[in-house]
Amino acid sequence: MSLYETVVGLEIHVELATESKVFCGCSTKFGGEPNTKVCPVCMGLPGSLPRLNEKAVEYALRAGLALNCEITRNAKFDRKHYFYPDLPKAYQISQLYLPLCVNGYVDITGKRVNIREIHMEEDAGKLVHDLWTDETLVDFNRCGVPLIEIVTQPDMRTADEVVETVRAIRAALAALGVSDVKMQEGSMRVDVNLSVREFGHEFGTRTEMKNINSLKSIARAVAGESKRQIELIETGKKITQETRRWDDNKDTSYAMRVKEDAHDYRYMPDPDLSPFLITEEQLTHIRRTQPELPEAKRLRYPKEYGLSAYDTDILISERTLCVLFEGAAEITRKPKDTANWIIGEVLSILKERGEPADELSLDKDKFARIITLVADGAINRAAGRRVLRALLDSDIDVDAYVKQNGLEAIGGASVVDDAVKKVVAANADSVAKFRSGSEKVFGFLMGQVMKELKGKGDPAALKKALEEALL
Ligand code: ADP
Ligand code: MG
Ligand code: ZN
Repeated sequence: MSLYETVVGLEIHVELATESKVFCGCSTKFGGEPNTKVCPVCMGLPGSLPRLNEKAVEYALRAGLALNCEITRNAKFDRKHYFYPDLPKAYQISQLYLPLCVNGYVDITGKRVNIREIHMEEDAGKLVHDLWTDETLVDFNRCGVPLIEIVTQPDMRTADEVVETVRAIRAALAALGVSDVKMQEGSMRVDVNLSVREFGHEFGTRTEMKNINSLKSIARAVAGESKRQIELIETGKKITQETRRWDDNKDTSYAMRVKEDAHDYRYMPDPDLSPFLITEEQLTHIRRTQPELPEAKRLRYPKEYGLSAYDTDILISERTLCVLFEGAAEITRKPKDTANWIIGEVLSILKERGEPADELSLDKDKFARIITLVADGAINRAAGRRVLRALLDSDIDVDAYVKQNGLEAIGGASVVDDAVKKVVAANADSVAKFRSGSEKVFGFLMGQVMKELKGKGDPAALKKALEEALL
């Protein structure tokens, strides 16, 4: 048992999925030729004036309500000054004094993680280091993309709790549709603040590891940084409050810079943006039109579809799985079957291929068709799996694919009976064993009949015919 307890608080930056940027009309689309989605406002040219994108405020409010926050009704923006080549104005428009949302929380297994605030701000550009020419270039396309920053209280104690918190926040934002929350593409970026302390003591000095871009790296970073800090303390050294970078390849973090204090940024209210009011009507409208959140689905799925809590948890962890499940179940009218196909088949194929579930896009009608064909005995489960693989590869026509590949189950009485007769005749020993009470031979005989039908038999029809033949 370690003497030490790890303490973690998160700062999570999330890019909002608005069409245009937060203070100008430029497109927020990811990628594209450098410096093509820019204008005087987002390039910070003198004399240009920002104009607030209402949609960004709406999305931030949706996130705040979903994460159980109180909403600040008299909102405003502040300037946070610092120089960096990807920040052409030399200040970022943010919210220090009156964050839009405060005092929220998210529930994870067995505990509540409190959210101190969610504030709005703008993203910066990107530096592109060209190692070949030894130059650094700057791409301003991302400048002015709307962000929210979600700041939690230091309430997490283990890597599992940290991962679960990130997952829960990510699932909620995805369900709302306010962000595409892709950690790899940087639309969701997690900073991990971490300290260690002896159990029962005051919080220790923390370090901050910036922009960790996968759940796996987050878990490793929490473990690695705790270990580093404990070793320092054990050898009588001090932890420096600093920003560090987690290097997942080297499995360690290294120092980047000493942390700035708020006063270093010379925050001031932004004189170009007037304070604005969030009205009761606006909030009522947003509450009425909030999409269903994972928490609500957690209650609804078992009640409405008869799913187990275990299956429900898997489905609600990804928006794409919920969409596929609800859409396909409505067509198949077999929710449990549909859930089994997603959890047992789709997810294991994705896992085997190393493809993330959040990018899954399966046509619900075609997926439902496969499930129905198997349920009706028109193709057997192995054939269904094969069609599913094909559908995950390309946009096939399910029925045509079954035909072209001769996957129809053989359930016709005469063909099945012939196969059964053949197998019974060729396996007199096993048949005798079965008749004298050895029931496990049945499986072997079933297998032989299936083989006779080249794997295409309808198992239900085979079983029936074989049982009759063995009577
Ligand atoms: P600052 O104002 O210096 O950025 P904050 O109080 O805003 O510091 O906290 C930033 C983040 O650090 C929050 O997510 C918070 O939960 C976390 N944090 C604060 N103190 C600690 C600590 N002792 N250990 C771990 N995390 C901490
Ligand atoms: Mg802070
Ligand atoms: Zn612009």
